[in-house]
Amino acid sequence: MHAIGIDIGGTKIAGALVSESGEILRALKRPTPAGDPVAIVENVVELVQELRDGVAVIAAGVAAAGFVDATQSIVYYAPNINWRGEPFRDALMQLLPGLDITIDNDANAAGWAEYRFGAGRGATDMTLLTIGTGVGGAVIVDGNLLRGGFGAAGEIGHLRVVPGGLPCGCGQRGCIEQYGSGRSLLRYANEIADAGGIGLNLAAARESAGQLDGTIIAALIEDRDPGALAALRELGSWLGQASASIGAVLDPQLFVFGGGVAAAGELLLEPIREAFLAHLPARGFHPEPTFAVAELVNDAGVVGAADLARLHAERR
Ligand SMILES: [Zn+2]
Repeated sequence: MHAIGIDIGGTKIAGALVSESGEILRALKRPTPAGDPVAIVENVVELVQELRDGVAVIAAGVAAAGFVDATQSIVYYAPNINWRGEPFRDALMQLLPGLDITIDNDANAAGWAEYRFGAGRGATDMTLLTIGTGVGGAVIVDGNLLRGGFGAAGEIGHLRVVPGGLPCGCGQRGCIEQYGSGRSLLRYANEIADAGGIGLNLAAARESAGQLDGTIIAALIEDRDPGALAALRELGSWLGQASASIGAVLDPQLFVFGGGVAAAGELLLEPIREAFLAHLPARGFHPEPTFAVAELVNDAGVVGAADLARLHAERR
């Protein structure tokens, strides 16, 4: 039976009616009334009603950026929509009687979609790292999404790679999010531009546009500009180092990288693989995992939320 997936982002709420094979049959979106939990609940209810109009739906899954509790009911902390301890599932169940509803972290939903219908097909153990403004993550262990005892497992962005390193938005220092995110790539590109030499094209692009951004760097990467490629290699080497630490604990067969930077494909994966091998414990005595880029780019959140909700309903 079909299920509904809703993805609450900082600027828009996306919703989709999703088939058992992960196909999107209907899609809708509207702006996020950020900071207004009551209005967000109303919008989600309206989207679900519109999406299920005239079709049989087994469940609805809602994904949001933040910490969700282990019972998938409460959003503990969602900074970009300004939520603290919202009993979101209860609010939705009251307004949508008869429908099974689950709440998930958005990166977990995206990772699950990738595992079921994207680059992760065929694996049993997979780790997803999403390279956006920050670094998101999801962990699949033995065919299951790892949620942890308190629901907050898989927060890979806050894996510490530099003790006492750069301050992070989470209140700690040295998290991989400060070295392996889209923002980090910009920092490396600016440093390379400042240094001259291979950074000449980056410096010229910065001069004419006022500042560097992801689009400018992506275009220079596509042109194989040496400065932009060096920034990408720096990013990849940090991600590879973090992957080695993840590998020591979880031993996945497959690492998948998502987010805008992943469009660089092999240019990103090669330095990741190199750094992974350089930092892998017992190197040479361990099979090499596969490194791949994500396949479900924009739809992963809604597809994964719908599929997780369907599985939850089927297990009840
Ligand atoms: Zn952090």
